[in-house]
Amino acid sequence: MARLKYLVIHCTATPEGREITSTDIRKMHTFSPPTGRGWKQVGYTDMIHLNGTVERLVQNNEDANVDSWEITNGTTGVNDVSRHIVYVGGLSKDGKTAKDTRTPEQRKALENYARDFRKRFPFVEIKGHNEFANKACPSFNVQEWLKNIGI
Ligand SMILES: [Zn+2]
Repeated sequence: MARLKYLVIHCTATPEGREITSTDIRKMHTFSPPTGRGWKQVGYTDMIHLNGTVERLVQNNEDANVDSWEITNGTTGVNDVSRHIVYVGGLSKDGKTAKDTRTPEQRKALENYARDFRKRFPFVEIKGHNEFANKACPSFNVQEWLKNIGI
């Protein structure tokens, strides 16, 4: 068990405007290859749908520690000190090009989430997946966004 250090934001890397269920995400992450990636646990604690609904995928007791049963596999190397959340989208309609596809509802939900998290855990750094890895995910600049919304 370790102390929470990061809130990491991800996208599902699915095309703009297309909804995806948590069941599908869970399959993609936990089913054996080639169907899935063969992970023990789905990669995110919470999932923000196109309509702004926040769905919990992995149980969490909401304290400042990451218990072993709370670990999700969003970012190699920091999973034991991170909470991972994901918004549905992140690619343009062609399904290939990285794009900030957040709906107004998703933006609001993400902002509320980040604000609440910052209030409860002031020591936690809020990051994008792309600040840890050479990836486009979550298809927007998290630090710029935080500054714009005053977090
Ligand atoms: Zn990611």
